[in-house]
Amino acid sequence: MNHSERAHASLSASGASRWLACPPSVRLSEQYEETTSVFAKEGTFMHELSEIYLSHELKHITKAQLNKKLKQMKQNEFYNPEIEQAVQTYVDVVTEKMNEARVTSKAPLILIEEKVDFSPWVPAGFGTGDVILIYGNRLEVIDLKGGKGVKVSAVENPQMRLYALGALNNFGVIFDIDSILMTIVQPRLDNISTEEMQVDELLGWAESVVKPKAELAFNGEGDFMAGEHCRFCKVKATCRARAEENLKLACMDFQKPPLLTDDEVVEVLTSIDQLLSWAKDVQEYALTMAMDENKQWPGMKLVEGRGSRKYTDENAVVESLIEAGFNDDVIYKKSLNTITALEKELGKKKFEEVLGTLVTKAPGKIKLVPEEDKRPEIKTSPEVDFQ
Ligand code: SF4
Repeated sequence: MNHSERAHASLSASGASRWLACPPSVRLSEQYEETTSVFAKEGTFMHELSEIYLSHELKHITKAQLNKKLKQMKQNEFYNPEIEQAVQTYVDVVTEKMNEARVTSKAPLILIEEKVDFSPWVPAGFGTGDVILIYGNRLEVIDLKGGKGVKVSAVENPQMRLYALGALNNFGVIFDIDSILMTIVQPRLDNISTEEMQVDELLGWAESVVKPKAELAFNGEGDFMAGEHCRFCKVKATCRARAEENLKLACMDFQKPPLLTDDEVVEVLTSIDQLLSWAKDVQEYALTMAMDENKQWPGMKLVEGRGSRKYTDENAVVESLIEAGFNDDVIYKKSLNTITALEKELGKKKFEEVLGTLVTKAPGKIKLVPEEDKRPEIKTSPEVDFQ
């Protein structure tokens, strides 16, 4: 792949929050190979499974074909009742929206896994919309997020907006579209969010924000900008801009008075998560290089950590203990499977049915977070605790 092709491929909708914030990251990342994670593979599996159900719903495949495909999918390493339940939740939401579209319009356009082209704003930019609906004067884009780590919101989400732009570019000449809905369904976190925009508003954003940033990214220009988006950057461990941003904390000019001021404490608090995540990325990168590529880091060496003991043959252990006269109470420990493991085993629906009333949620540990955090503030003081 030559440079421009690599840049093209890198200006993806899923990476948009990164390249919009830090345009030169695209060129800087080119030297690194594409990698995939187990989470990404699981997400792909969920998309494939939902596509099968939706294809049947849209009568693109017969019941017999559905069953045959499902049989194959159930052999996949990622298949389990919890995943099945999550996909069903997503399929239910989409089916409901498709039915709404059918009620609103005599001939709605319903597409799944549709390639959309947003190249008028991003050089060779394209992506795949999970579901695209056009009914009345409305365009709706729906995206499945399979993750269960971080909640993803559709509000001000550049990936969703780029899919919407692509759909508008593909179909805007055929349909008279006024408004756009962008919906993210993240079933494993019970998270559904929607952003609504008028066409003019979306096109304004595309012209004033996306186009200039995409051009900078394509040309390898613009300013480096470290932030949350660095998490998904291939050069996150060795990027100088990110290092400098994080090291600012270490270099804080702690002058007199000898105690930190409130503002300085807040500066440490607000930087700490990013600082820790950056330090972990550097640590992992350096270790991988030392182990896989025999890289010698000046003044550093590889050593073995503290090992842990384990049985070589569990059956033989039990036999030996019985022979030595110990009973089951000494040999075995009975413990209940964890909530997460049982939920995975039973599937969310069955879990709720059987154990719903037997599960309670203890309040989470109290944390100090920036004001912008979406969680509601709690008040705590000796008086409030007493009440
Ligand atoms: S690590 Fe962050 S600052 Fe550095 S290139 Fe990547 S996105 Fe930009």
